Amino acid sequence: MIEFKSVEKSYGAASAISNLSLSIPSGKVTALIGPSGCGKSTLLRLILGLIEPTSGEVVVDGHPVNRDSAQAIRRKSGYVIQDGGLFPHLTTAQNIELMGKHLDRAVDINKLTQLAHFPNDALGRFPGELSGGQKQRVGLMRALALDPSLLLLDEPLGALDPLVRSSLQKDLKQIFGEIGQTVVLVTHDMAEAAYLADLIVLLRAGKVVQVGTLEDFQKRPAEPFVTEFLNAQRQMVTL
Ligand code: ADP
Repeated sequence: MIEFKSVEKSYGAASAISNLSLSIPSGKVTALIGPSGCGKSTLLRLILGLIEPTSGEVVVDGHPVNRDSAQAIRRKSGYVIQDGGLFPHLTTAQNIELMGKHLDRAVDINKLTQLAHFPNDALGRFPGELSGGQKQRVGLMRALALDPSLLLLDEPLGALDPLVRSSLQKDLKQIFGEIGQTVVLVTHDMAEAAYLADLIVLLRAGKVVQVGTLEDFQKRPAEPFVTEFLNAQRQMVTL
């Protein structure tokens, strides 16, 4: 479904992605994980054509991502970012319906509130009147409003407190199962990646270190960094 072919991406002189090749399967949940600055968000932005590779190619559903194809790819994609990216002067319902109105397509708000476990009586509230977890649910409903075939989530739970985070993780898992679409999720938390994703891509400094499941990483680490990364995460839990 998504293929990175020898992709390089530099911002000025600094290389963010270097000679990266990767296939992301369709209909599955793939997590991108790795230390801060390893290029996870850059990969999502390349998929959406928000930025262009310095060299190499990104192919989505058989179409190379370029200026001509980017808009079509964005229209069939839902994108959720960490702070939700909601318009503060629009109500929850207006935020969710915005793209549908713009493209003259119907949005089934009831179906979305059920899917995202969002209270109907909060649809009239502005983002400033919602909790952090609710804001992320609205960001998710907005991303799902036009039945995307591709859902991209950039640290959607990063800023939430642990209890809210855990409840949203459960709901996300259920939602991913229900929609059955291709999902690419950026996270820095291995437990979250293992819980939500079918496939985990571990990155370091703009390169793929290993692709597999948590079990693959534990039993067959591709290099010492994989074990170091897992141990560092474990220490965060036991400290
Ligand atoms: P991650 O999502 O893994 O934290 P990013 O993809 O955001 O990593 O960033 C990868 C690298 O590219 C980092 O070194 C970051 O500082 C750099 N970078 C990202 N966006 C920009 C930008 N717009 N301009 C300059 N450098 C950037």
